[in-house]
Amino acid sequence: MKGHIGPDAILSSVIKGNAYGHGIKAFVPLAEECGIRHFSVFSAREAQVALEAVTHGSVIMIMGHIGDEAVPWAIEHGISFYVFDFHRLQIAAEAAGRIGRKALVHLELETGLNRTGFTEDEMERLVKAVRGCPDLAVTGVATHYAGAETVSNYLRIQKQIALFREKCLWLQKRGVNIGIMHSACSAAALTYPETIMDMVRSGIALYGFWPTGETKMYYLLNYSCGGEDEISKAPSPLRRVMSWKTRIMSIHDVSPGQFVGYGNTCMTTVSSRIASVPIGYSHGFPRDLSNSGFVLICGRRAPVAGLVNMNMILVDVTGIPEASTGDEVVIIGRQGEQEVTVSSFSEMSQYLNYEVLVQIPAHIPRIAVD
Ligand SMILES: *Cc1c(COP(=O)(O)O)cnc(C)c1O
Repeated sequence: MKGHIGPDAILSSVIKGNAYGHGIKAFVPLAEECGIRHFSVFSAREAQVALEAVTHGSVIMIMGHIGDEAVPWAIEHGISFYVFDFHRLQIAAEAAGRIGRKALVHLELETGLNRTGFTEDEMERLVKAVRGCPDLAVTGVATHYAGAETVSNYLRIQKQIALFREKCLWLQKRGVNIGIMHSACSAAALTYPETIMDMVRSGIALYGFWPTGETKMYYLLNYSCGGEDEISKAPSPLRRVMSWKTRIMSIHDVSPGQFVGYGNTCMTTVSSRIASVPIGYSHGFPRDLSNSGFVLICGRRAPVAGLVNMNMILVDVTGIPEASTGDEVVIIGRQGEQEVTVSSFSEMSQYLNYEVLVQIPAHIPRIAVD
């Protein structure tokens, strides 16, 4: 990603959603080792966790929720945060005045997502409020795109890019020092390079996942392969950093004609070996994978047999006679020649990478390995 965005733009690692399931505490030091010095979180709560995890004085920026009561805390710790309405602006200014330290704010501008941000008719008032307030340091101006990962949003994104530039210029002309301009998420940076500006807020790609298949196709066609004929052979420049593993809990034999697990969704047709694996929907293993997902055991695919339970799945290891209790089970990741990708979990939603990752509960230990 650094190579793609160039040396002049800051690469902010987005670590909301517990670092997309990777664990903020485990991920932040690894990112810092790679030279990252800027982290974006959603909430003040996440900023607290991030603050404990950073060791290089990295910058932390809150892009979303910060309750009024947390604003003084953020200011005291030098944590920057989005301001997207006058309520937040006033709370920030007052707190900063009381504390005697400037609030580092990023003004979020509404450009077409219609979620948060200052709208067109609030701009005049915004200029007055910011210019008249010595307690606010405008560190940046930001906006967010309405789905840069899908080509059907092309026109909407183009309009947003133009409007964002226009609004930034407008602010500058009125004497507002806007700091850095930033708008790109992973998909925007990868498919609309003009959105890279002064900083890129990249989440999913830094964990090695494509925002969507479309983004991947577009990127490979434009940057890393010889054309459409080559696309299937082009190596993906992204490397997934997480794998998810457990061990076989127990194995037993089931004779032909028996139902396996709850209900009657799975019946053995031959003498079978069924392994129980201590992972279920309470761990974020999707229930949709009942009778359709698979895990890796001894370098081979073992299909899920029956329904995904709350804490367990049963998998068919009839074809893997050497499998035994205690063997490693790969839920996501590589084992031998085989790989389970997050997107192979299910093809049902284009945002599934994101959803599956963040549903891996925080209490499962994250271990950094070489
Ligand atoms: C989540 C988020 C990002 C990062 O998105 P990715 O698609 O994971 O790169 C960037 N900006 C904002 C405001 C976000 O909420």
